[in-house]
Amino acid sequence: MSGRSVREAIRHKRNGGELDAEDVRNFVAGVVSRSIPDYQAAAMLMAIYFRGMSDPELATLTAAMIESGERLSIPSAVPKVDKHSTGGVGDKVSLSLAPLVAACGVTVPMMSGRGLGHTGGTLDKLESIRGFRTALSPKEFGRIATRHRVIIAGQSDRIVPADRILYALRDSTATVSSVPLISSSIMSKKLVEGLDALVLDIKVGTGAFMETVDEARVLARTMVEIGRSHGVATRALLTAMDQPLGREVGNANEVVEAIAVLRGTGPADLALLVRTLGIQMLETAGVDGAAQRIDRSLESGAGLAKLAEMIKAQGGDPRVVEQPDRLPGAAHARRIRTTGEGYVTSIDARGIGLAAMSLGAGRATMEDRIDHGVGITLSAKVGDEVRRGDVLATLRFNDPGLAARASGLVERSYVIGGLRPDRRPLILETIS
Ligand code: URA
Repeated sequence: MSGRSVREAIRHKRNGGELDAEDVRNFVAGVVSRSIPDYQAAAMLMAIYFRGMSDPELATLTAAMIESGERLSIPSAVPKVDKHSTGGVGDKVSLSLAPLVAACGVTVPMMSGRGLGHTGGTLDKLESIRGFRTALSPKEFGRIATRHRVIIAGQSDRIVPADRILYALRDSTATVSSVPLISSSIMSKKLVEGLDALVLDIKVGTGAFMETVDEARVLARTMVEIGRSHGVATRALLTAMDQPLGREVGNANEVVEAIAVLRGTGPADLALLVRTLGIQMLETAGVDGAAQRIDRSLESGAGLAKLAEMIKAQGGDPRVVEQPDRLPGAAHARRIRTTGEGYVTSIDARGIGLAAMSLGAGRATMEDRIDHGVGITLSAKVGDEVRRGDVLATLRFNDPGLAARASGLVERSYVIGGLRPDRRPLILETIS
C-alpha cells in the first residue's frame, strides 16, 4: 500500500507509474464523497487518458465503481443476459432485441442510456411512447425484470454513482475516448445487473467512438476480459457504423422501425443485426437451438407481444405496437433530392446524426429537451443507384427555422459516385 495523497497519485500516474489498489479505491471513494475536487479528478482522468491502465489498475477501478453504489437484485430461474452497444446513429436494436430474446425463455434486464451529441439513446426513443417510465428505483427495476423477464430502464442515482460523476467530468474534459475509462464505465453498469451472460456490440466507423477496427478490437478485448474476470460469459461483436443503421434516425420513427423488425418487415441491415445479436445472446447464455428459437419468436409474433407487455409494465401505451400512428409526429417535411447520378458510395453517419440532433431529435447538452416526433428518413442507402432528382432523405420537423442547417448537413453527408461501392459486411468480427 502506497499511502499516497491524491496529488502524489496524480503525479505518479502522470509520470507513467502504476497506481496501487489503495490509490484507485481512494480516488473513486473521494470522487463519490466529493472530498476530491473536480480539478483533481479531471487531472487524474487526463493522466489515465494519456498513460492508460494496467490490467490490475483497470480491475480495481471497475470493482471500485461497482461498489460505489447498489447492486440490482433480480431473482430469475432462467439465465439473465444483456446486450450493450457502444452507440451510433439509427441504432434502435435494443428496442426489438430485448423483447425478442426474452420471448425465447431468458431474462433481459437492460439498463440503458440517453443520447448525447450525434448518437441517439434507447431511453429517449422509448420515451416517445406516452406514459413510458424509464426512471425506476432499483427495487422496481428488479420487480419488473423478475415478473416480465424484460425491462429497459435508466440508471438510478443509486447505481454506480461514481460513473455518473466521472462521465460528466470526462465529457467536459475531452477524456471520454479512453479504452480503460470507457470499458470500466460500461462494464461497471452491466456487472451490477448480476448477469450470467453479456454480448457487446462494438460499433466501428464514422458514427462511432471507435473509427477503426484495430481500436475497436482493443476495446472489445478489454471489456470481454473484465466480464469474464467477474464470472460473466461475455462476447463482443464488432459491427459497422459508417452509415446509419436502418432507414430511420430520430426517436418515435425509430420505435416504428423497431416494431417493423418484430413484424418481419424491418430493413435488412437492422433485421440482420437484431437476429445475429439475439442468437449470440442465447448462445452466450448457454441456451440450445438459439437460431431456431429466435426465428420462431419472430414468426409467431411472440417477440412483438413481449414488446407490448414490456411497454405496459413500464406504464406506456401498448397500443402503439398495433397502431404506430399513436406515436408523436412532426408538422413539416422536406425532401432532400440528389443533384448527381450514380451510386450512393457513402453516407456519413455522424453528419446524419448531427442533422437529426439539430432538428431537435437529440441533445447537445444533457439539459436539452428532445422533440420525439422529429427525425430523418433515409430513402437511399450505400450501394443504391440514384438518378438526378431522386429523394435521398426526408427531414421531419416542427420548427421550420431549424430545417436549413439540417438540410445542409444531410446533403453533405451523402457521397454519390460513378462506381458501385464494394459491399462492406455489417458484422465485422466476433471476439470471445
Ligand atoms: N457509454 C458509457 O456508458 N460510458 C462510456 O464511457 C462511453 C459510452
